[in-house]
Amino acid sequence: MSSRCPLCSQSELRPVKLSYDLPALGCMNCGGVLLSLILYSDWRERHPNELPPTSRTESPANPQVEDTKNALLCPKCRGFMTKYKMRADASNVLDLCAHCDEVWFDRGEWSQVEDLALSGQLSRVFTQKWQTDLRKAEVNQRAEKRYQEQLGEDYAELAALRERLRDHPKAKEILAFLYTSQTMR
Ligand SMILES: [Zn+2]
Ligand SMILES: [Zn+2]
Repeated sequence: MSSRCPLCSQSELRPVKLSYDLPALGCMNCGGVLLSLILYSDWRERHPNELPPTSRTESPANPQVEDTKNALLCPKCRGFMTKYKMRADASNVLDLCAHCDEVWFDRGEWSQVEDLALSGQLSRVFTQKWQTDLRKAEVNQRAEKRYQEQLGEDYAELAALRERLRDHPKAKEILAFLYTSQTMR
């Protein structure tokens, strides 16, 4: 059975090979790729060790990377695909059909997740734990940004101090020292 591209519905998806001969279906028109997580698991079993990235030519800021905001229909079952964020610092989202276990990568998105895929973590992106951790990371990033704004030019120095105190055996004493010197005046 042939599958059509979820973006350019006229275009047939054709067999392509991603990094290290990982089989997938690609659209020659938009450059998107459909990957079966089942085939990915099989491929992982044949490549159990972490592999070096091959297509790290496109950075997240690269304009070649596209991201579809619209809900896509799965090329296999025609059901709606669900959007998943992959990293706290990336704005792109991946589309997954939870029914067929098929992931759609818009053009350029594969190279953004290639390191995750090669280290065997691709399927984990779609787990509750990954998504919960990602939301926590986003909350932390927002808090950090607020501190950065509040502290202004002192931020870099204070962030370095915080780093030094992180594993310091006397961190508590040092903090108490700083705190009391402010409150006992
Ligand atoms: Zn297409
Ligand atoms: Zn489907």
